[in-house]
Amino acid sequence: MKILLMPTDVSSKIAAGEVIDRPASVVKELIENSLDAGASAIYVDIRGGGKERIRVADDGIGIPAEEVELAFQRYATSKLYDAVELESVSTLGFRGEALPSIAAVSRILFVTRTSFEDSGTQIDVQDGQVLGIQSQGAAQGTVVTVTRLFENFPARKKFLRTSGTETSRIQTLITRYALAYPGKRFRLTVEGTEVFNTSGSGHLREAVADVYDTKVAQAMLDLSSKTVSGEKPSVMISGLLGTALVDRANQSHIALFVNGRWIQSRSLVYAIKQAYHGFLKERRFPIAVVSIVMPHEEIDVNIHPAKAEVKFRQEGLVFETLQQLVRQTLTLHTPVPELLVPHAIGRETMNESLGPLFLETNITTGLSHNMSHAFPKARQDVGPPIDEVQKIFVDQSFIPKKVLPMLRVLGQIHSTYIIAEGPDGIYLIDQHAAHEKVLFERVVAESMQSPPKIQSLLEPVTVELNPHQKELIDRQGDLIYRLGLHLERFGPSTFLIRGVPPTMPDGDPAKSLVEVLQLMMDGGGFNSWEERAAYSIACHGAIRAGKTLSQNEMSELLRQLEDCDRPHTCPHGRPTMIHMNFEYLEREFGRR
Ligand code: ADP
Ligand code: MG
Repeated sequence: MKILLMPTDVSSKIAAGEVIDRPASVVKELIENSLDAGASAIYVDIRGGGKERIRVADDGIGIPAEEVELAFQRYATSKLYDAVELESVSTLGFRGEALPSIAAVSRILFVTRTSFEDSGTQIDVQDGQVLGIQSQGAAQGTVVTVTRLFENFPARKKFLRTSGTETSRIQTLITRYALAYPGKRFRLTVEGTEVFNTSGSGHLREAVADVYDTKVAQAMLDLSSKTVSGEKPSVMISGLLGTALVDRANQSHIALFVNGRWIQSRSLVYAIKQAYHGFLKERRFPIAVVSIVMPHEEIDVNIHPAKAEVKFRQEGLVFETLQQLVRQTLTLHTPVPELLVPHAIGRETMNESLGPLFLETNITTGLSHNMSHAFPKARQDVGPPIDEVQKIFVDQSFIPKKVLPMLRVLGQIHSTYIIAEGPDGIYLIDQHAAHEKVLFERVVAESMQSPPKIQSLLEPVTVELNPHQKELIDRQGDLIYRLGLHLERFGPSTFLIRGVPPTMPDGDPAKSLVEVLQLMMDGGGFNSWEERAAYSIACHGAIRAGKTLSQNEMSELLRQLEDCDRPHTCPHGRPTMIHMNFEYLEREFGRR
């Protein structure tokens, strides 16, 4: 077959598909144009999930009459003059593709007026053809109305979801921009009814209150870094981090912005999720608004037609800085757990099975503060040495340690829970969760020592391993050794166990090793291998539910729990204990 150059109307339709694939992408491009035009208010109105009509109105600089038609030509832009500028794009748009792409697949009515013109201009474009252009009275700014989206593109139209789904995508999107630009007024109306609006006060917390509610806004922690000074590049991170009180069922509430651009980044979302580990219950996700500011030359925004992804020149630095800052912020700010009588607060953060009792504030301070530094970085290959990144953090010499009161063991119920009395009421302690926490903190602490704490066996024990277990040892051998397991290869599938961690229960080391490897493979809900490993050893070594304990064993366990940095939660962030204070008892017994 002969090679032919495509007619431009074909190529522009193909290109349009990369930029505009659903109503939300129309809204995104129009909002970005409004922001680039310096608007202070951006109003979006949609009907039929945007399939029927999308209208975006702004009070920005507008387009002079003689340039309006040009704006609809591919690669026409006022934001970029040469290739050098492409290296440091500071506007949201720069490709000059959005308006022609939208116009190629819909009908656009575009009305605009600059401050130096007496009247505005209206242009009407459908499926890439200009139907008319005329002078028209208008307020300063631009109003874009898009109808008949994908009407002549049935294949594309088929991929659209229900109006409800498309609406919610649009809403999520506008929410993101409202959070990225708290100084701008955003309003969304759906079928003529206002869904939300932001005040444009310039305060992020207020924008969060407008987008979510005041409870969420109040529960958010301030995230802020100083510049990593000295060497270039500098990375500035700011924003708000939600706590467990306002956690969510999916990760769509993690919003990331780089230089004012909302971006999608699996890696940075992962950095945040990891940093939250132990601060949220399993399978719960935070609300987080994170804004990264760095020199424009340090990022490449031109890797994706929809400009939704960026490439960092030093991704490792950004990853590490973000992860550590989030972790540090959570650790420093997390309030000391307070055990209270039931009120309405916090109920949703608790396990249903606890019935009427729950802890009020934060039940999820799972990990000791130094967990994030406990292990050499798994991502050693990226980013600067760790202490360089740490320079940006606030003085961390003071990290609150939550203490337990002195507890006196009263007994055990169901061979699973310990009942104890404290100065302020009764405590029910989950023996397995409590012991797991004790061991977890101990394993983490011991792994930081060098050489690792290993209890040598008098006689090495041989163990047969299956290929999965062998592979795990091959891949994570160093980590396994640092945690106190001294293994030696003995045959194709045989290993010698020469030493075990002091936390490992006496008995059959071969059986223990196999169980620990199995737990590590399962992961226990942890992502990092370091946490998986520490958890595996802790879980394996912890007293089981169902085991009858002597008075001494119970007292010893409580004493160890008192020594923990975060005694109230197990490594997963679930409570290790419930507390019934006297006020609660009196109220339940009708004494007051
Ligand atoms: P880009 O944003 O990449 O430059 P677009 O196709 O989105 O490309 O827009 C083309 C040009 O039209 C922009 O460069 C800008 O000059 C102008 N423009 C588009 N929307 C607006 C608006 N809402 N207000 C003012 N000017 C606009
Ligand atoms: Mg644009």
